[in-house]
Amino acid sequence: MHTRRRVLVTGGAGFLGSHLCELLLARGDHVLCLDNYFTGTRDNIAPLLSNPYFEVIRHDITFPIYLEVDQIYNLACPASPIHYQKDPVQTTKVSVHGAINVLGLAKRLRVPVFQASTSEVYGDPTVHPQVEEYWGNVNPVGIRSCYDEGKRCAETLFFDYHRQHGLEIKVARIFNTYGPRMHPNDGRVVSNFIVQALRGEPITIYGEGTQTRSFCYVSDLIDGFVRLMESPASVTGPINLGNPEEFSIRELAELVLAEIGGRSRLVFQPLPSDDPRQRRPDITKAREVLGWQPKVKLLEGLRATIAHFDGELRRTGSLQPA
Ligand code: NAD
Ligand code: UDP
Ligand code: UDP
Repeated sequence: MHTRRRVLVTGGAGFLGSHLCELLLARGDHVLCLDNYFTGTRDNIAPLLSNPYFEVIRHDITFPIYLEVDQIYNLACPASPIHYQKDPVQTTKVSVHGAINVLGLAKRLRVPVFQASTSEVYGDPTVHPQVEEYWGNVNPVGIRSCYDEGKRCAETLFFDYHRQHGLEIKVARIFNTYGPRMHPNDGRVVSNFIVQALRGEPITIYGEGTQTRSFCYVSDLIDGFVRLMESPASVTGPINLGNPEEFSIRELAELVLAEIGGRSRLVFQPLPSDDPRQRRPDITKAREVLGWQPKVKLLEGLRATIAHFDGELRRTGSLQPA
């Protein structure tokens, strides 16, 4: 008899987590979605609740948890600057204590464990594009440090559990990702620009908009997660997952405006401190080791995301300027 794999997804009610849960269920896994709803919502997972192989556990991962599963994806952590800066001490705790608990669980069960790390471990990078061998340029005492250093320490813990306890680890360094179910008010650039343009509000460019980012569509990223989890045990990462096409923030604003039309104009606001000036992944490793590369072009992904936000704003009656 085929036994379903039981897969734990921490942060499963969030943006990326809900897409991952959906994909795992579709391929026949039994999914345990653990979340404390800090930034995730029941709306994100509502369509999955009727699936008998989907379970939700309301729990804060900074506290220990005892479950029986075959694989663990650790995504729990607020990801956008306004959320992770709201309670910075908790942000570090989620990354560090969360990693310790997830690794303790994986160690007891002897199961593979995936970590959602981030391009923020490279800080404001002096090597461009970023390769996995680059150690990064992170301010340890700034307003982004709770997130960046928390994620760096989590990577350290993953590699020490691997070396010390022989754990099978899978560390992905995720670059900016966008798509349906991003939180409309989480302050990230893609959601901000789309919501502003749909409402005919000014589009807020921080700084001069010359800083760059590389935007990966969510379905491409989640495909990379699963490929990494299913790769041979010798593949530990860290491995970059992201779209290598780089755009300036101003270019992104113009693309969104051209797609949506309307009366929005660009306004320039101060650049937050420690805002990285450039970011683009070198994905040679992901290509070679996982046979993975993104398929969705920015314009195509933006169209799908715009359609999602348009639907959401209409549904909630918030299409008018706030
Ligand atoms: P998100 O905020 O939508 O999801 C994070 C989820 O974790 C939420 O559902 C939240 O409620 C949950 N959570 C937070 N603290 C928790 C706790 N203490 N216990 C249990 N659950 C908790 O963000 P996302 O964009 O889906 O990001 C998911 C993961 O991917 C995060 O670890 C993030 O750091 C990482 N990541 C995301 C991006 C991106 O562009 N979206 C880029 C790099 C890394
Ligand atoms: N842990 C957990 N679930 C488990 C096993 C461990 O939450 O199934 C937690 C445990 O409470 C501990 C952490 O994971 O705080 C690290 O576990 P480990 O075995 O590495 O450390 P130890 O228990 O020896 O301190
Ligand atoms: N940004 C912007 N306007 C906004 C939101 C963000 O110009 O309304 C800029 C931000 O300063 C940064 C880039 O867009 O340079 C990406 O920001 P985001 O918060 O999405 O991601 P991160 O900085 O974590 O890469």
